[in-house]
Amino acid sequence: MIVTIDGPAGAGKSTVTRKLAQELGFQCLDTGAMYRAVTWQAVQNKVDFDDETALQLIAQNLILEFDSERVVVSGIDVSEAIRTPEVTRQVSQVADAVSVRSHLVALQRRIASTGDFVCEGRDQGTVAFPDAFCKVFLTASANSRAQRRSEQLLAAGHFVDFDQIVREQKTRDVQDQSREIGRLQKAIDAVEVNTDQMTIDEVVAKLAKLVRDRLNEKQNS
Ligand code: C5P
Repeated sequence: MIVTIDGPAGAGKSTVTRKLAQELGFQCLDTGAMYRAVTWQAVQNKVDFDDETALQLIAQNLILEFDSERVVVSGIDVSEAIRTPEVTRQVSQVADAVSVRSHLVALQRRIASTGDFVCEGRDQGTVAFPDAFCKVFLTASANSRAQRRSEQLLAAGHFVDFDQIVREQKTRDVQDQSREIGRLQKAIDAVEVNTDQMTIDEVVAKLAKLVRDRLNEKQNS
């Protein structure tokens, strides 16, 4: 069974996905980490980010292992390295590459076919899993999203000016919403949840109830 959680950066997707998966006894799939891992490898290889063929080759040859805690590329733990401001600035360009997207979407479907998953990203309910059992679109105001991002960066030891985070977030939103394939958008049958006035635990409880209610409805029909 697949539950998808899409939404913009900073809406709380990663933490909510991890906790919801735990609550439901599902595994979780952070698809943003996949785009970030390709980006990290492209930075290592000093690839020209306008060269789609080079990006495609990196995606196809990436030796990627991950679970809910760690992301490992070719035996190197890159869990922190993929979240640096440098990778964050370049990742949208990698995610624009149609051949990279189709490779990663195929990989996401293969992974998710092995069990019950909560999959988070931008296109999980629209492109990767259009028949998902339950689809969620998480949103939050630009200010609280930037606040979350700034706290995450500080916790990881990066200081970034708040206004710069807001500016970069806006740029990434525009890029994520305007790409031709796999753009950030709410699936027509997704439930939208605004996390502004909610704690993470309240969001998780709401989503767990949503999934369980659907399961009950299905069993009773
Ligand atoms: O979720 P996260 O912020 O880690 O995602 C990083 C970037 O990867 C996003 O800004 C977006 O450009 C891209 N992405 C995507 N499709 C997904 C997940 C992430 O295009 N399913």
